[in-house]
Amino acid sequence: MKIIIVGTGYVGLVTGTCLAEIGTEVICVDVDQKKIDNLKKGILPIYEPGLEQLVENNYNKGRLSFSTDFEASVKGASVIFIAVGTPPGEDGSADLKYVLQVADTVGTYIEDYAIVVTKSTVPVGTAKKVKAAIAAALDKRGVDLPFDVASNPEFLKEGAAVDDFLKPDRIVVGVESERAKETLTKLYQPFVLNGHPIYFMDIPSAEMTKYAANAMLATKISFMNDIANLCELVGADVNEVRKGIGSDPRIGTRFIYPGIGYGGSCFPKDVKALFHTADDYKYNMRILKAVDEVNDDQKFVLFKKIEKHFNGDLKGKTFGMWGLSFKPNTDDMREAPSLILIDELLKAGATVLAYDPIAMEEAKHFADKRVIFVKDAIDAVKGAEALLLVTEWPEFRLPDWNKIKSVMHGRVIFDGRNIYQAKTIAAEGFTYYGIGSQPKT
Ligand code: NAD
Repeated sequence: MKIIIVGTGYVGLVTGTCLAEIGTEVICVDVDQKKIDNLKKGILPIYEPGLEQLVENNYNKGRLSFSTDFEASVKGASVIFIAVGTPPGEDGSADLKYVLQVADTVGTYIEDYAIVVTKSTVPVGTAKKVKAAIAAALDKRGVDLPFDVASNPEFLKEGAAVDDFLKPDRIVVGVESERAKETLTKLYQPFVLNGHPIYFMDIPSAEMTKYAANAMLATKISFMNDIANLCELVGADVNEVRKGIGSDPRIGTRFIYPGIGYGGSCFPKDVKALFHTADDYKYNMRILKAVDEVNDDQKFVLFKKIEKHFNGDLKGKTFGMWGLSFKPNTDDMREAPSLILIDELLKAGATVLAYDPIAMEEAKHFADKRVIFVKDAIDAVKGAEALLLVTEWPEFRLPDWNKIKSVMHGRVIFDGRNIYQAKTIAAEGFTYYGIGSQPKT
């Protein structure tokens, strides 16, 4: 089976590589010439654990190739996956410009029956638009070709994307023809052998499933952040409360960690896109609007604590920031809470020393130019008044506190991810601030 993946970002490159890994012929197509040239040299546009090796293996075996030429690539393809970005438009709705551009290209160049599968996260009704755009392009050519559309939303997590793709919790596929179902069943067979389920459904339900999943996950985070903020006011400790509620299997222990707000390229935009869709249907999704609002506020929580601790006087003070990406094990800086914290600190006249194990190069495109990027965690706290833990990378979990004290000026730690034990930090002579608990000295 020959597969075309259009868009070689986090989703497209992982999908293409993992499908090549099971023995299919895959061509990853992108409009970004530099990305494609680099991929041919083994330089990946993104960081994803385990991906580089898989790309290299499959590229060397000739199963995986890269191109900017859709017309030449598409010959003989059975399945074309659309994996381009769907960024938020100005009003928060999903911008389908890239998806529909690809649909037009597909209609312009296909020569045989193919299944066009949308993997990008798209609002309900997009498959119909994709179908119409392909049909319009075929019409323009005066060609009558059968084709199918399908929806196969992607649930991979950045930082664990390869594993998630190879061992999925579930695969969701929306189809409207038996022919498409048969082909996609065959394609995904190797991934479901170990009991991972594949759910076929109608296309609108598949499109909706992706948004509902991300909206639910974002809701858990904002809910816990709300609880954490109240814990601080009433004198409770959210770390205890979390354990207390998580032991109820109806609630569960996963994804109920408070922090400094969710970021990344998915939750913020998908939550907004979903309530925007609801607005189009004159339905008010009150919970999701609150989820979004709580998250916007939560990104300022650490700064407020810092400001209060230093009595509003941050001018001329230096802060050491550990972690920049929106979560560990990725270089993705889109909507990262670190960016807001950086802006607020700089606005207040502070100096920011920042270190991230992987995302520093990417961060340079996103962060204010005044941030000073340093080579390691110790350099980030040299002369700093406070250490700010922003992303819970494994290497920050058990630092050498004596070494830190020997270079740091102040003795305060603001832990935006609650990875340290307040008691341990206080015993080391620091004042500790977490999320959802009282400061400890
Ligand atoms: P990305 O921005 O990393 O990559 C998109 C790629 O598409 C870019 O390389 C871009 O050059 C390319 N592209 C744009 N227009 C094109 C065109 N006309 N032809 C060919 N290539 C084109 O995006 P991403 O993070 O991989 O996300 C892609 C989609 O998958 C989005 O809808 C996103 O919401 C969804 N998604 C993302 C994740 C994630 O964790 N990143 C997870 C699940 C779903």
